[in-house]
Amino acid sequence: MSNSATALRPAPRARVQAMKEYHPPLGNRDAMRLDFNENTLACSPKVREALSQVSSGHLTRYPEREPIERIVAEYLGLPAEQVLLTNGVDEAIHVLFETFLEAGDELLLPVPTYTMYEVYASATDALSVAIQAADDLQFPFDRLLAAVTPRTKIIAIANPNSPSGSVATRSQIMQLAQHAPQAVVLVDEAYFHFHGETVLDLVGTIPNLAVARTFSKAYGLAGLRLGLLAGPHGLIRWVRRVLSPYSVNSLALTCLPPALEDAAYLDWYVSEVLQARTDFETALDEAGVRRWPSRANFVLVEIGTRHSEFVRLMSAGGVLVRDRSNDPGCDGRVRITIGTRQQMKQAVEVLIQSLAAIKVGKEAQ
Ligand code: PMP
Repeated sequence: MSNSATALRPAPRARVQAMKEYHPPLGNRDAMRLDFNENTLACSPKVREALSQVSSGHLTRYPEREPIERIVAEYLGLPAEQVLLTNGVDEAIHVLFETFLEAGDELLLPVPTYTMYEVYASATDALSVAIQAADDLQFPFDRLLAAVTPRTKIIAIANPNSPSGSVATRSQIMQLAQHAPQAVVLVDEAYFHFHGETVLDLVGTIPNLAVARTFSKAYGLAGLRLGLLAGPHGLIRWVRRVLSPYSVNSLALTCLPPALEDAAYLDWYVSEVLQARTDFETALDEAGVRRWPSRANFVLVEIGTRHSEFVRLMSAGGVLVRDRSNDPGCDGRVRITIGTRQQMKQAVEVLIQSLAAIKVGKEAQ
């Protein structure tokens, strides 16, 4: 082979070469999973039942998204043209960014927030502009509003936010949308069920508002990869052009109607988590551990310099938790998913032992 032949090889775009690799710690998770904010128990038995009836004939066909989109739209009280099913909310974010962000555009991100916004933004030619929350990790509304420029094309707001559990109000979201009419305001309501407040009812009435929901959290279907994006037709129709017509697989589509129908299961799981969250917060307060108020199925806690050791000790005790020290403004902080009351009781025992071992909280005095 000649030298010139070996020198020639396909090169990815410069922005892709500059991207950081992102490897979520998904290995060895046969323990209590308080690390990814999933449902820690199970999905609805009605979903299991539907799955068991899937025939091989069903699997040989390409999945048809539209009929299920109509069912979901009806459930949400929206016209079908305003709802797009996606392969998890991650795909909704990815495709929305691909649809709207070009070179010179800006994505506004209140941080710390969900990691994948930054990842997908870094694959576009746009600039991501981070607005750091103060130490209380509340939604930095005034500074976000002040950071809007004519180049702002997307403002991504996880509501509730992760890893803080803090929220933006309906009025703040409406003001942002009004202040930046050239930008899509994406309200990612992945944790909506644990918060109970939504702006989904405003979809279609505000031309630049899009809302995302997932089936990975309260519904317990993270493995199926199922999410949705709702927005005015004038916005969704462009995203639909970019999205693969086949990206939501047929097993996920089969499971969606029974998941929606079993409201009793969802309500039970959510109320279980909310009670467990209250108990867990009380236990943290008693243990003298600083925590941030949360409206989601997780709580961020302050561990301090021995955070890695804490996470290792928790894991050795059979409880997986997530170190968020690399998130902006989160050094020494660890996020703990809330499961059932029984699971959290067990988690508190391991937590207290782990804190004692590293002399944090009450144990430090
Ligand atoms: N948005 C937020 C705020 C999240 O925390 C997560 C998952 N951790 C997602 C979206 C991803 O959801 P999905 O599993 O539907 O891709």
